[in-house]
Parts: sequence; structure tokens; C-alpha cells
Amino acid sequence: VTPKLVIGNWKMNGLREASLQLATAVAEGARSLPDDVRMVICPPFTQLDRVAEALEGAGASLMLGAQDCHTAVSGAHTGDISAEMLADTGVRYVLLGHSERRQAHGENDALIRQKVQAAEAAGLIPVVCIGETMAERQDGRAATVLASQIDGSLTDNFNGVLAYEPVWAIGSGVTPSREELERTLLLLRGLLQSRLKMDDIRVPILYGGSVTPAQAPTILSIGVLGGVLVGSASLEARSFLRIAEAA
Ligand code: 13P
Repeated sequence: VTPKLVIGNWKMNGLREASLQLATAVAEGARSLPDDVRMVICPPFTQLDRVAEALEGAGASLMLGAQDCHTAVSGAHTGDISAEMLADTGVRYVLLGHSERRQAHGENDALIRQKVQAAEAAGLIPVVCIGETMAERQDGRAATVLASQIDGSLTDNFNGVLAYEPVWAIGSGVTPSREELERTLLLLRGLLQSRLKMDDIRVPILYGGSVTPAQAPTILSIGVLGGVLVGSASLEARSFLRIAEAA
């Protein structure tokens, strides 16, 4: 069985002491998780090394992730970090195309696809984030938006993870209903099937947006869901672990 993924995106949070404490506490708790759950921590770049050390010995149940990478392997790209650098630091997963990067850094699907290629070339598992805004949802354009994000940002033989994060659900405390989420997951499955040029598609689909320990059991009870991508609730070891326990 493919393990359920519970990914924590720390975003731009984490100084030395707090990062070490949080990662150590999660590593401790992750030891008692069943084999069919895998946790991933995505700290900011500056804490990757420190968190990698805290995760040593945690095994496959807890892995290191990053929040972005550049399209190139190396070179004159001031301020950027390559996928190869991440892999060299012990990173296994990389978030790509998060809506905060699409919005604040103007990232488009074509760029994200190049980043996916870079991640794949470095042996990382890309976690591609897609999702409609509130305005797109209200205009009845959600399905069209998701289709074009999938078409544009995935590679033909994409073998990573897809994270459905409706922009309106991020940090808002609002989540789609179970029925709505199930419908969207079905839609995404179909879109993946028509997009990918492969017979055997094993791309897990995660949900992200205001996932808390209280909602996690309902969300994670959806059988076809591959796991969750957690923002603010991953900044507290106890709540992040409680979400993983619900997986
Ligand atoms: P919140 O869980 O804080 O809503 O953030 C979700 C998210 O953007 C994870 O990538």
C-alpha cells in the first residue's frame, strides 16, 4: 500500500531553536506511527540542515521536504536554490507551485513544469500544488482552472504528488465539505488520467487548506485521498502529530 502522506509546510516560519525543538518533537512522535503513514516536514531553506539532523534515524516514516527549487542545476541565479542542492542536504520532497508562490512571485504553469523537471532530474519527489481562487470558484470556473493547471504544470510522465489546495481554504479556517472534496478528487483523478501519458498512474492526491486536528478525521476518511498538506497546524508538534494519527 502507498502510505498516506502528511506534509507540513512551515512556510516562512522557523528560527534555530524553535525549528530544532519542533522537528525533534515530531521525530519523537513519528516513531509510533503505523507503517502506512509518512510524515514530511518542509522547513524554510535556512533550517533544512538543522532539521535534517533532527530527523536522522527517523527512517521512512518522517522525511525532509523543501518549499521550492530553481529550474537550473547551478549557475548565476542569485538568491535561488537548486533541486540538486536540496537533494544534497537530505531533502526528498519539494513543494512546487504553491499558490503563495504563484501569487507573490508570479510563478506560472510553464515555470512550475520546468521546476518539476529539475526536481525529477535531482531525484526529488515533486509535490505540485494547484487550486482555484474564491473568485474562480464563484464564477463556476474551478474545473477549468484545475484542468489548465494540471495540463500546464505537470510533466508527461509525472510520478510525483498532486496537492489540491483551494486558495480560499488556505489560512481561512474554511474547508470544502466532504462531498465537495470527494467530487473534486474524482475530477482531478480524471484530469490526471487524460493528462499523463502512462498506463499506470500512481499519483497520490493530497488536500491542503485549513487542515486542523479537528477536521483531519473527516477529511482523511475519504478513501481516495492520498493525504494532507498542512500549514499552520504543522507549526505545533502536538497538532501535526494528531493529524498524522488521523491518517
Ligand atoms: P493552512 O493549513 O495554514 O491553511 O495552509 C495550507 C497551506 O498552504 C499548506 O501548503
